[in-house]
Amino acid sequence: MHHTRSAELFKQAKQVIPGGVNSPVRAFKSVGRDPIFIERAAGSRIYDADGNSYIDYVGSWGPMILGHSHPKVVEAIKQAAQNGSSFGAPTSSEVELAQMVCDAYAAIEKVRMVSSGTEATMSAIRLARGCTGRDKILKFDGCYHGHGDSLLVKAGSGAATFGVPTSPGIPADFAKLTLTATYNDLEEVKQLLAANKGEIACIILEAIAGNMGLVPPEPGFLEGLRALCDKEGIILIIDEVMSGFRVAYGGAGERFNVKADLVCLGKIIGGGLPVGAFGGKKELMDQLSPEGGIYQAGTLSGNPLAMHAGLATLKLLQEEGFYAQLEEKSAYLEKGLRAAAANASVSTCAQRVGAMFCTYFCAGPVKNFADASQSDTAAFSRYFCAMLDQGINLAPSQFEAGFMSIAHSTEDLDKTIDAAHKAFKSI
Ligand SMILES: *Cc1c(COP(=O)(O)O)cnc(C)c1O
Repeated sequence: MHHTRSAELFKQAKQVIPGGVNSPVRAFKSVGRDPIFIERAAGSRIYDADGNSYIDYVGSWGPMILGHSHPKVVEAIKQAAQNGSSFGAPTSSEVELAQMVCDAYAAIEKVRMVSSGTEATMSAIRLARGCTGRDKILKFDGCYHGHGDSLLVKAGSGAATFGVPTSPGIPADFAKLTLTATYNDLEEVKQLLAANKGEIACIILEAIAGNMGLVPPEPGFLEGLRALCDKEGIILIIDEVMSGFRVAYGGAGERFNVKADLVCLGKIIGGGLPVGAFGGKKELMDQLSPEGGIYQAGTLSGNPLAMHAGLATLKLLQEEGFYAQLEEKSAYLEKGLRAAAANASVSTCAQRVGAMFCTYFCAGPVKNFADASQSDTAAFSRYFCAMLDQGINLAPSQFEAGFMSIAHSTEDLDKTIDAAHKAFKSI
């Protein structure tokens, strides 16, 4: 397998695009090699610029639950494009998708469409601050909510009372308003709430953490947060940009039976086009402009191409047995990967919720970011490269989840497991 054309393209890209990529993790930096440039994709497969084919478990970082280029989604986009790609005026497709989202998520009575997951979380936080008149927010170390200023913050060492920015360019004064706690640690949240009584607008979290590998919520964690928020008048924001429509049609909320005040969506809801959404209780959502005073807007929000791609996708997800089939494929792969690691005597910890999975290179269990950081990332990099060279495309970082699609065949899964046997032995 050679990557001559990808190498050429990367060289050119670096001349005109910072780091050669439009989103950092695409650069393969954490696995110490150059990225492959993709030319096309279909079903479970992606094809690079050199004509190599890979079984894909990145799925555009989550959206491609149907596999790539599903004919019905492609057809929906084509038809929409023929009727005009953007009007800056309301359309019926927005109403239809909003209705489907409200029907799917018990927590969502009204929803607004935006163009990315980042915009969804940023807007939800503004809404929470506007509704409560409080400035502070609480997030969890290792949870990713897009690249908004308030959210690109992790714990400072020690007491973790005040956040420190994860990136230059974020004013320290902003970061101070973001408190961070350890994922799955309800006691720490209680302490932070006590120390900041009446000052916290919202708690935001991934109900299944998929941006530090894959960390499920411990029993009682989500329920505990719900109760604390109710007690303190804090708005609970569940970021389902990744888990929404993936771990169940109704997302993590349905799977774990927890009801947020606001829910953020993205990825799958756009069927591979740029979409995000945030929604929740009527009395909160009605405080957005033009109904209320909290401003939020977007030239391309509710874009017709994206709405039609989303509608076509969600309709296919409603088919009888869809999630059961996805679960079966995911469980089959998990079992195979576990056996492959055991066979090669490599210490790994496989964690999975539905069609989101991760293999950590440590004993586990991994319950938070500190645990995830114990993983042997050098071993992960060798595993990643050995898989890629056998035509298996995994996320190029230990701290990302893998995604199953309905298009993955048993043959694909068996090929992946065979490749894993060799990869684990080679590291
Ligand atoms: C991907 C992701 C985001 C950000 O979405 P973008 O569309 O990349 O801006 C936010 N939250 C979670 C949980 C995500 O996985």
